[in-house]
Amino acid sequence: MYMRHFARFYSAMAGPRPVVLSGPSGTGKSTLYKKLMKEYSSVFGFSVSHTTRNPRPGEVNGKDYHYVTREAMQAAINKGDFIENAEFSGNLYGTSKAAVQDVKDRNLICILDIDMQGVRNIKRTDLNPIYISIQPPSLDILETRLRDRKTESEENLQKRLNAAKAEIEFSKEAGVFDLVIVNDNLDDAYEQLRDALLEEIHGVKKINLSS
Ligand code: ADP
Ligand code: 5GP
Repeated sequence: MYMRHFARFYSAMAGPRPVVLSGPSGTGKSTLYKKLMKEYSSVFGFSVSHTTRNPRPGEVNGKDYHYVTREAMQAAINKGDFIENAEFSGNLYGTSKAAVQDVKDRNLICILDIDMQGVRNIKRTDLNPIYISIQPPSLDILETRLRDRKTESEENLQKRLNAAKAEIEFSKEAGVFDLVIVNDNLDDAYEQLRDALLEEIHGVKKINLSS
């Protein structure tokens, strides 16, 4: 794990800095951010992405993703509604301007769960988030987690494992991530994530109490 000191976390004009969580599919990003949002429900808001993939059992439209057709999504991209978008494992994914604005309007820390293409594209914007990479202990363990989750077809699983190799390499590039967390033991990984964000969490609590 390495860590750089996060710069300014809150300015009255810009609000709290968003947090980008990135890393291979199946590495535990959603498990971790859901834990964070449960413990600090009045501090974090999730940037609900759009996707053309089908919902998994238990996923809720408008909460986990906005599930849309490729035609509708492409039209919205062409209209300029998205901050970033990418093709992942045969489907389109993207962060709409409205998704981030909605969280910002509530004065909450916006969490974005995006792939490495998204990270590259967000770096070209003025969003200025904290970049955190969540990595698996090994590719074998990642495969076991993905298989145990039982959400992917064999073909999809292979596509995700393939993409994971690039995501793992990407996390080693200098200057991309402020923090890389290896999600081996879940409680340890969660503690690292929470500790890294404590300053921002307290900042938001203070501002929202006084307003
Ligand atoms: P992602 O959102 O990155 O695709 P998930 O949060 O869905 O990944 O996690 C993938 C699977 O791994 C889930 O079934 C989750 O319960 C499990 N998982 C997450 N973290 C751990 C961990 N530290 N140890 C064991 N299993 C984990
Ligand atoms: P999943 O299908 O497992 O929910 O997500 C697959 C991958 O797409 C994950 O790496 C996830 O981080 C990424 N992803 C989800 N939403 C977005 C988005 O809006 N933009 C980008 N670039 N990637 C996303």
